[in-house]
Amino acid sequence: MIQFACPSLPLRRVLFLSAFSIISGTTLVQAQADSLDDHKLTELYTPVPPVVTPGAKEGLPPSDAVILFDGKNLDEWVLTKDGTTPADWIVRKDILTVNKTSGNIQTKRTFTNYQLHIEWRIPSNITGSDQARGNSGLFLASTGRGDDGYEMQILDCYNNSTYTNGQTASIYKQDAPLVNACRKPGEWQSYDVIWTAPVFNTDGSLVSPARVTSFHNGVLVQNNFELKGQTRYRGKPYYKAHGPSPIKLQAHGDKSEPISFRNIWIRPL
Ligand code: MG
Repeated sequence: MIQFACPSLPLRRVLFLSAFSIISGTTLVQAQADSLDDHKLTELYTPVPPVVTPGAKEGLPPSDAVILFDGKNLDEWVLTKDGTTPADWIVRKDILTVNKTSGNIQTKRTFTNYQLHIEWRIPSNITGSDQARGNSGLFLASTGRGDDGYEMQILDCYNNSTYTNGQTASIYKQDAPLVNACRKPGEWQSYDVIWTAPVFNTDGSLVSPARVTSFHNGVLVQNNFELKGQTRYRGKPYYKAHGPSPIKLQAHGDKSEPISFRNIWIRPL
């Protein structure tokens, strides 16, 4: 028969207190992470993605692409705030510029899995710093009003530092880009995105998470990244069931000069 020695009373007390502190410590960290009050809990600053200089230009639509913006009008877009009012961002000289007073815009069409191309430009006279410097965003699926959905960050990070999981081409507060491929303010930049939508059971539970592969100025920045849920400014990401969704562009509330877009097209897969 195998016998185990019973720990002495002082040792038992140590073991009990250790277990208690581990459990209570975990609970405390969980409570902090779930807090809606402190956005800094989800901001990372190291390691900083290395800077890479992108190569030649890219991006005209192939024959089977759905054109979402070709410089002429915003017929494919509505305001996110009600999902029906025609988008009233500014179209001039084949370029679309954010109208910060009217808020986010989104496509009339909805999408599931797709390949998307979009070009954007930070104005050459951009001011501000950190997250308040040309902030916008490409929501790979919009799941509601405001900023609900999955945001790939648009920001000027050419000589502008911020938290790495909130810099240009991050999946906001979930994954920093592999590199920083930013061009200078005033130059056109591109995102090419391959999006695999999350799949849900009829009871709302998750079957498979969303995945994204993306290129910034032709340079790989997200490599089949598995999202942890919708992107959130405060608190941890989580999934909430949804179906086919619009693509959304962000009118961020910072005071810096509004950014512009052009040549937006998509290929549903
Ligand atoms: Mg943003």
